[in-house]
Amino acid sequence: MNRYTELAVQGYEKVLRCDNEQIDFSAWIAVHNSSRGPALGGCRLWNYHTDEAAFSDVLRLSRGMSYKNSLAGLFLGGGKSVVRVNLETVDRQALFEAMGDFVEQLAGDYIVAEDVNSTVKDMAVVKRKTKHVATVGASGNPSPFTAYGVYCAIKAACLHRFGSDDLSGRTVAIQGVGETGSRLAKLLYKENCRLFVTDINPNNLQQLESQILCTPVTPEEIVGIPCDILSPCALGAILNPNTIAQLNCSIIAGSANNQLSTEEAGILIHNRGILYVPDYAANAGGVINISCEIGQAYNRDKAYRLTADIAGTVEIILNRAAEQNVPTSVIADSLAAQSFGCHVPD
Ligand code: NAD
Repeated sequence: MNRYTELAVQGYEKVLRCDNEQIDFSAWIAVHNSSRGPALGGCRLWNYHTDEAAFSDVLRLSRGMSYKNSLAGLFLGGGKSVVRVNLETVDRQALFEAMGDFVEQLAGDYIVAEDVNSTVKDMAVVKRKTKHVATVGASGNPSPFTAYGVYCAIKAACLHRFGSDDLSGRTVAIQGVGETGSRLAKLLYKENCRLFVTDINPNNLQQLESQILCTPVTPEEIVGIPCDILSPCALGAILNPNTIAQLNCSIIAGSANNQLSTEEAGILIHNRGILYVPDYAANAGGVINISCEIGQAYNRDKAYRLTADIAGTVEIILNRAAEQNVPTSVIADSLAAQSFGCHVPD
């Protein structure tokens, strides 16, 4: 049976904890801000070592979703759920039914979707217990939209930096060729880009090499490869003082979440004269696609059209950052926070 505890956290509208001893899991749902609409965010399953680690993740991730959804112009707030669980032993069916009951407790203030270690199939189980679940309908896998949004962001950044969004002959280094990175590589290949790619999973790399012309490099080499565009499509915190010193690119734009290790990393990149496309501006295609099945009949063409608008958002961010000579990350945060009614400290 689920046991619920409400937690008061400053700056968050609602944070709930759920424990279920029979299934042996603890979960948290955080609604950061719902001034633009119900809070949408995925359900992350992880072998967190401590409750504190899970709790701080749900706060960080739900806040990030408020920024992403707001900057993308969606009438959705920011929320997230995380589950502390042993991924090897858990009964997934029972877990996702219990998660469905948990989501239902919030009566529509939070809409759950897939995330790391949860799938569209799992969301179908959640749906047995609550209607407040996305990605079980027609919108399907968000990755093609995320990749397309990053592609649009890269074009906007090239227009800003080089005066042309023609990608032909541009060199792009892609870190991580999984769901999003491999799709981005294929889009760029069609535009005659020269591609350097890496992955810690040799199967993903081999599969891509069998499909398009690209040059594999080691994970250690990718950050320092001379290129026009570096595209982080794997991990968070990849842009830190150590890697920023190695960068040999003009533009950074990729799908990975939380690319900057700290706010200072945005300043270091700016000081190096490298154009950073804020991650949550570039990678919003997935959530834009999901939004197209909430409260409306899903239309794939519309989802692609709205995803293409990422280029316009990126253009605004890059222009304002250039006018004010401040990091692009600062401009993106301030634009997003303004539209969900928050003040970003100077
Ligand atoms: P994925 O797991 O399918 O692909 C990630 C790839 O990166 C894997 O192939 C993995 O082996 C590789 N990788 C991991 N560590 C690496 C390293 N150190 N060096 C090189 N390669 C490494 O994931 P994805 O769905 O493509 O997501 C990638 C990133 O984009 C994640 O940060 C995710 O949170 C973010 N994101 C994804 C979506 C989406 O729609 N899938 C939407 C928004 C943000």
